[in-house]
Amino acid sequence: MKPSRIRASAVLCYICLLSFSFSAAASMAAPLSYNELKSIAQPFPEPQPGSWQYEQKEPGQTFSQYKAGRPAVATAKRRVIYVQILGRMSDSQKTVVDKAVEYLGLFYGLKTQTLPPLDASVVPISARRIHPMGQRQFNATYICEKVLLPSCPADAAAYIAFTAEDLFPAPEWNFCFGYALYKQRVGVWSLARNGNPDDPDEAKTVLRRTLRIASHEVGHMFSMRHCIAYKCNMNGVNSLEEADATPLYLCPECLRKLNYATKVDYVTRWRKLEKFYSENGLEDEAQFIRKCLGL
Ligand SMILES: [Zn+2]
Ligand SMILES: [Zn+2]
Repeated sequence: MKPSRIRASAVLCYICLLSFSFSAAASMAAPLSYNELKSIAQPFPEPQPGSWQYEQKEPGQTFSQYKAGRPAVATAKRRVIYVQILGRMSDSQKTVVDKAVEYLGLFYGLKTQTLPPLDASVVPISARRIHPMGQRQFNATYICEKVLLPSCPADAAAYIAFTAEDLFPAPEWNFCFGYALYKQRVGVWSLARNGNPDDPDEAKTVLRRTLRIASHEVGHMFSMRHCIAYKCNMNGVNSLEEADATPLYLCPECLRKLNYATKVDYVTRWRKLEKFYSENGLEDEAQFIRKCLGL
């Protein structure tokens, strides 16, 4: 996974006191308090050689540090996550993207809007190359800076593209799963290395990988740094294997950040996520959310 300067996820990532006011929404169950959430959260284990945390030695980010850093948040005028498909995509890949769009709306408690697809011709020959292994690759930096940024809607909390094309961010890089200009709220993610959604044995894995990267990277767009305290959606990852071992849900500390950024109601969000996870066969995640809801 890493010839030359490859650190796929490194590219990916170039990327309240949580006085949980569960109030009226908690009438049917007893959602966990912040301290109770902490008690069920899984501390991040000792980083092993080859893992993201072992190699990057990141400082982490507490909620207090997050708030003090004047994070990017969804304002009253910026409450839409815009998504569009770039280039050709199979029907099954489109289905995965549709699921990811739905998921982002539930995860962040924001409106989503899918824009008309963009033809691959918006990426000129000068921003393409053929990888030594033979596949075509698009320059993700070009896509962000020249395609997405000029047309970023004014009310976008985030403006992201999904493509089936393989990506690279700069000539010296082998590939990247995705790339984003976080402060400018734009990013592009590839499905090329997520597996084959037409293979019944892989379909759930492809969906999970796509949901993870989409929600993780949008988290960065809201100034959330990598989490080193718990097993958490905001953990940095160095490989697909590490990504697959990372939960889709957030730890209590990162959940506070999300709430600060979007003002989403915890219980409403959990209920919707529990339904989504259950309907899509993501039982581990569904089970965790049921715990959060006190079910
Ligand atoms: Zn990241
Ligand atoms: Zn976290």
